[in-house]
Amino acid sequence: MARVLIVGAGLTGSLCAALLRKAAARPLHLAVWDKAGDSGGRMTTASSPHNPQSTVDLGAQYITCTPHYAKKHQSFYDELLAPGVLKPLTSPIEGMVIKEGDCNFVAPHGVSSIINHYLKESGADIYFRQCVTQINLRNDKWEVLRETGSPEQFDIVVLTMPAPQILQLQGDIVNLISECQRQQLESVSYSSRYALGLFYEAGTKIDVPWAGQYITNNPCIRFISIDNKKRNIESSEIGPSLVIHTTVPFGVTYLEHSTEDVRELIFQQLENILPGLPQPVATKCQKWRHSQVTNAAANSPGQMTLHLKPFLVCGGDGFTQSNFDGCITSALCVLEALKNHI
Ligand SMILES: Cc1cc2nc3c(=O)[nH]c(=O)nc-3n(C[C@H](O)[C@H](O)[C@H](O)COP(=O)(O)OP(=O)(O)OC[C@H]3O[C@@H](n4cnc5c(N)ncnc54)[C@H](O)[C@@H]3O)c2cc1C
Repeated sequence: MARVLIVGAGLTGSLCAALLRKAAARPLHLAVWDKAGDSGGRMTTASSPHNPQSTVDLGAQYITCTPHYAKKHQSFYDELLAPGVLKPLTSPIEGMVIKEGDCNFVAPHGVSSIINHYLKESGADIYFRQCVTQINLRNDKWEVLRETGSPEQFDIVVLTMPAPQILQLQGDIVNLISECQRQQLESVSYSSRYALGLFYEAGTKIDVPWAGQYITNNPCIRFISIDNKKRNIESSEIGPSLVIHTTVPFGVTYLEHSTEDVRELIFQQLENILPGLPQPVATKCQKWRHSQVTNAAANSPGQMTLHLKPFLVCGGDGFTQSNFDGCITSALCVLEALKNHI
């Protein structure tokens, strides 16, 4: 049975796994490895240490579907809307730019439930805390090394991490990437920002008329959302949760600072915007070094094939754009590139 490894349990990786499972003409052994402790990647949903039902989306907040992609990716939207993984965004987000014909969706169970939907559909074996460090060519197979654990061999490898992390991999892969491909990977750029999640006790009232707000006059804070209100799951039994996204200039300036220091700076600024907020029972500060793609790889629509026999390909939003449809486009391109090999 052909062994396929997908590196990354974010949206692109989970979609690649689900699409490969559906398209494969022969039985495949699918494995997904991620260096993180949970699924989601930049579509992560964090839980309060005091109550796992109190959750907050730290990365992607909502899915915007343009009329073009409503048609092109209709089956993907239908598949998530039917079981309620996605629901229309009905709560007000102040300062959000709404273009005519666009629809916005939220994931009531947290944005990572989208990824979990695809991972479940794929039937792949999923392993967390597996940081891939090296990829070598051994007897027409890929030998993949990780920080801990013994090397494993695969017939096909799909890399879905941000381009700078692909370039950090060691082993034969370093020489298999052509000079032109290296330049294209190096040209992919990302913004950086921090996200701060705040969890409150059940019954806490946060008295604002909005579920989210874009902030335009603060050097540190760009976006605030009452996350459970945004997802329309307010309840008297589960405390509210807030997410704050910083501006990109703030993220870049404080990129190498400790998350503890950054958390304090965000708190100070939050007091100016929402004075008198109660003390949260728990917080989670997340650094997004590679937040959203500002410059995608040129001339590599959707994927970049690094090697043909055996197959090694990379995908992700670095080859398209940083949103749901960008990841679908990339996963479909990876599938197209792979289809004669499965
Ligand atoms: C703050 C923020 C807000 C956003 N807002 C929105 C929004 O509102 N709407 C929207 O549609 N999109 C939004 N986005 C963009 C969206 O989240 C991304 O485009 C999408 O999640 C990218 O998915 P991906 O699978 O390509 O990459 P990722 O989600 O980055 O997945 C890559 C995975 O690879 C893993 N990995 C990396 N290196 C290794 C290694 N060496 N070994 C093993 N695993 C590894 C990582 O842990 C990660 O899980 C936002 C992103 C951020 C950060």
